[in-house]
Amino acid sequence: MISCLILGSGPAGYTAAIYAGRAGLNPVIYEGIQPGGQLTITTEVENFPGFPEGIDANELMENMRQQALRFGARIESHIAVKADLSASPYKVWFDDGSCEECLTLIIATGATAKYLGLDDEKKYQGIGVSACATCDGFFYRKKTVAVVGGGDTACEEASYLAGLAQKVYLIVRKPFLRASKAMQQRVFDNPKIEVLFETNTLGLYGEEGVEGAHLVHRKGEPDERRYDLPIDGFFLAIGHKPNSDLFTQWLKTYETGYILTKGQTPCTDVPGVFAAGDVADPLYRQAIAAAASGCKAAMEAEKYLAANK
Ligand SMILES: Cc1cc2nc3c(=O)[nH]c(=O)nc-3n(C[C@H](O)[C@H](O)[C@H](O)COP(=O)(O)OP(=O)(O)OC[C@H]3O[C@@H](n4cnc5c(N)ncnc54)[C@H](O)[C@@H]3O)c2cc1C
Repeated sequence: MISCLILGSGPAGYTAAIYAGRAGLNPVIYEGIQPGGQLTITTEVENFPGFPEGIDANELMENMRQQALRFGARIESHIAVKADLSASPYKVWFDDGSCEECLTLIIATGATAKYLGLDDEKKYQGIGVSACATCDGFFYRKKTVAVVGGGDTACEEASYLAGLAQKVYLIVRKPFLRASKAMQQRVFDNPKIEVLFETNTLGLYGEEGVEGAHLVHRKGEPDERRYDLPIDGFFLAIGHKPNSDLFTQWLKTYETGYILTKGQTPCTDVPGVFAAGDVADPLYRQAIAAAASGCKAAMEAEKYLAANK
């Protein structure tokens, strides 16, 4: 019987494992399909405290992994495919057919940014394509960027980037913005932001990174117009999908699928089951915030185990 089972090996999962390991809970982590989590698809991390010169993202995650191992975490590589949280001990099944039973479960499975599905998004990932303005905006100071999306997040990301970049294009598929009136106004009032309505992205181009986007205005209409827009960065802001499908049957979630936790805690409505990191964070989605909630989840797991001996 596992006392503390952790699903996910991003900053939330590894931090939970470090705390749980040091508390003597002998945690077991299942890394899933993306060992090290989302940060492994980026290059440099400049905003994780403790690294004044920044740190290579993969090195940061490998350091966290080693730290978890140092305190006795067992790390497995499989993907959880099914869960039964109807009663303790909780059961989780994996893609190799195995099943683990646990007294506490920390769900740290993250959230996945939505992309348009263009091959070029993969080709230029980390060299001009990003799904996180807070993370990567700093690299585009005084440059020209485009943000894709028409909702609140897109308007927020465009406004944030306008504080850094010299010019921001907001590429919107529809002839209007879906964002709240206040967010729309912020965008329209910002002289650095130009909204390109009824515009779709067909692809990206550039030698060693993004140098521009192939766009189409009023696709399929008689006045359709295709053109190239020179840009240095292409930001997706069309939403995230929390990796919570396995648990929605058992746990309360927001409409968007993010796991609902109690107040400032990572406690779910099932005792002994905790949700940490992006999977329960529709707002911030940053590595340091994920690590902090992993810490809280492990501390809550320890408290729960002590009270339910
Ligand atoms: C391109 C990019 C750049 C970024 N740059 C920065 C930055 O500079 N600074 C910053 O603070 N943040 C940055 N972020 C955001 C940051 O990566 C996330 O906020 C953070 O990784 C969230 O951590 P997490 O532990 O919640 O989840 P994740 O890092 O998403 O990890 C989720 C983990 O869960 C596992 N998993 C998923 N499903 C299953 C399953 N069914 N079974 C088992 N395991 C599963 C995955 O394999 C993965 O290991 C960036 C994000 C992206 C996409």
